[in-house]
Amino acid sequence: MGKVIGIDLGTTNSCVSVIENNMPVIIPGTSGSMTTPSVVAFTKKGEQLVGESARRQAVTNPDRTISSVKRHMGTNWSVKIDGKEYKPQTISAMILRQLKKDAEEFLGEAVTDAVITVPAYFNDIQRQATKDAGRIAGLNVLRIINEPTSAALSYGLNHGVAQKVMVYDLGGGTFDVSIIEIGDGVVEVLATAGDNHLGGDDFDDRIAQWIVNSFKAEHHTDLSRDFAAMQRVRDAAERTKKELSSSGSSHIVLPYLTQVKGEPVHLDLTLTRAKFEELVSDLIERTADPVRNALNDARITPSQLGRVLLVGGSTRIPAIQEKVRQMTGKEPSKNINPDECVAKGAAILGSTLQGNAIVAADTGKDLLLLDVTPMSLSIETVGGVATKLVDRNTTLPTRYSRIFSTAAPYQRTVEIHVLQGERPMARDNKTIGKFRLKGIKAAPAGVPQIEVTFDIDANGILKVSARDLDTGKEQSITITANDRMSEEEIRQAMADAANYAGQDQIRREAMEVLNDSQSLLAKTEQALKNAGKQLDKSVKKQVKTDITRLRKLVTKCRLDKVTEEEVEEMRTTKSQLESSAAQMQL
Ligand code: AMP
Repeated sequence: MGKVIGIDLGTTNSCVSVIENNMPVIIPGTSGSMTTPSVVAFTKKGEQLVGESARRQAVTNPDRTISSVKRHMGTNWSVKIDGKEYKPQTISAMILRQLKKDAEEFLGEAVTDAVITVPAYFNDIQRQATKDAGRIAGLNVLRIINEPTSAALSYGLNHGVAQKVMVYDLGGGTFDVSIIEIGDGVVEVLATAGDNHLGGDDFDDRIAQWIVNSFKAEHHTDLSRDFAAMQRVRDAAERTKKELSSSGSSHIVLPYLTQVKGEPVHLDLTLTRAKFEELVSDLIERTADPVRNALNDARITPSQLGRVLLVGGSTRIPAIQEKVRQMTGKEPSKNINPDECVAKGAAILGSTLQGNAIVAADTGKDLLLLDVTPMSLSIETVGGVATKLVDRNTTLPTRYSRIFSTAAPYQRTVEIHVLQGERPMARDNKTIGKFRLKGIKAAPAGVPQIEVTFDIDANGILKVSARDLDTGKEQSITITANDRMSEEEIRQAMADAANYAGQDQIRREAMEVLNDSQSLLAKTEQALKNAGKQLDKSVKKQVKTDITRLRKLVTKCRLDKVTEEEVEEMRTTKSQLESSAAQMQL
C-alpha cells in the first residue's frame, strides 16, 4: 500500500506532508522551500508552470498567470488561454499534480492517495470542486478535511492535554475560526465560523491601493491602468506587508515603474506599520463576528478556552495577534508553524485512514476525529421559506430525515430545492442543488408523505434523497448548480492532464533543443556579420539557408503540442547548421 499524502491546498501557498517514522514531515517543493506558491502560468510557448517558477514570471506574463484560484472554487469562473477554457478545478488540479510529483520524487514511489484540506467554511459545491480537482490530478482523495481541524490534529498529537482550543486561521484568501475540543484521543469540532472572502490578499489590495493613490497625488498618473506596473505594485504590497510584521516601517522602491510623458518614473515610498494598521483596521475588525459566533455556537466563553492557535500566514501580523489577544484574553500559542500544521494534520488523518494507528502522544490512544457541518442545510418550502433539516455545527457524518407534503391539490411533482446558509428565506441562502420527485400519487394537498433525507459523509459532502412513502418512488440529488463540473467534463480534464503528463518527456527534450537552437542561431548570425566579405559565397549561402530553416522550426514550435517528429526535425536541422557554421571558421 502506497503512502497517503496530506495536502494543504492554500490560496497563496500549498504544502504537502507525509508520515515518516510515525511523525508528519513536510515534503519540500522543487525550489527546496517547504511551501509551493499556488500559482499556475502558461508560457507563450505553451508550457505550463506551477509554483515558484510560475510566481517568478508573473510580472512579465500577468494575463497568462493565475493565482489565488481557490477563491474561485465552486463558482462558474473560468479563464481562457489560447482558446482553451480552464475552470478553477482544472487549475487547482495542476497545482495538485505538481505536489503529487514532488511527493513522488521525495518518497521515490508512486503516490495516489491523499487527504486534502479545505476551509471549514467551504460549502458543499466548493468541497466537491476540490475533490474533483484531486481526481483530475490523478489523486484518490480519501477525505476532505477542514483546515482548522487539521491544524488541531497536528497540535493534538503533540500536546494532547484535554482542553478546548480556538483555531484562528487567517490565510491568503479565507478566514476560519473553529472551536475544537481535544482530549482523551478525541478531536471534536464544537463549532466553526468564518468568512470565505477575507485574507492576506485583501491586505495586499489595501496597500496596493494606497500606493496607487500616493503615486497619483505625486505624479498625476493612474497606475491602475498599467497592467504590468500593477503586477509589480501588488508584489511589492505583499513584500511590504510581510516586512511590517517584523519592522515598524517599510521602504517601497520600484525603479522604472511606468512612464509619464515618455519619461521613466520610479516609485519611492515609505509605509509605516501604524499607517498599514489604519488601512486594514476594518478588515481586522471583520474577524470579530465569526469569533463571537463560533464561541456562542460552542456555548463557551473565552475564559473557558485552554489555548488559542494561530494558523495561516496572515496571523503573523502583529495587529491580528493583538486583536486575538483582545477578543479572547489569551496569549495565542505560537509553538506550531502556521504554514505547515494544516498539511501535517492531513497527513496524520491520511495515515489513520489507512489503518495505521497514529496515537496521541500523551494518552497512547488512537485519535478519533469528529468534524461538523459548517452551515445549516435546508430545503425551500411554501412561501419561499428555508426549512432547516441539519443545523450548522452538527457532528459528521450525519443523516437526517423529515416528512413533507404537497402544497396544491393533486400535485404530482415536487421540486426539492436544497439550500445552504443561515437565513430564514430561501432566496437569501446559497442554492446547492435542485431536483424533482415525479409520480407522486394524486391526492388532496397535504396528504402525500414525502420523506426527504440529508446524508452528509465524513468529507462534509451531501447527498439528498426524496421518497414518496405511498408509492415508494425515490429520487436522489443531482447537483444542478452550473458551478459544478459534469462527469464528462471531469473525464475530459483527466484525459487532458494525463495527455499533458505523457507529453512531459517530449516537451523536456523539445525545450532543450529549442534553447540550444536559439543560442546557436544568435551565435551564427553574429559570426556571419563579423565574417563579412571574406566568407566563401557558397558557405555563406548554405549557412543562411540553414539559419532560415532552423528559425522557422523554432518559431513554429509550440511546447504544448510538439511531437517527437518535430523535435527530431529540429535536432537534425540544428546539426546541419552546426556543420555549415563550422565551415565558416575554416
Ligand atoms: P497561507 O494561505 O496560510 O499560506 O497564507 C498566506 C498569506 O499569509 C499570504 O497573504 C501572505 O502574504 C501572508 N503572510 C505570509 N507571511 C506573512 C508575514 N510575515 N506577515 C504578514 N502576512 C504574511
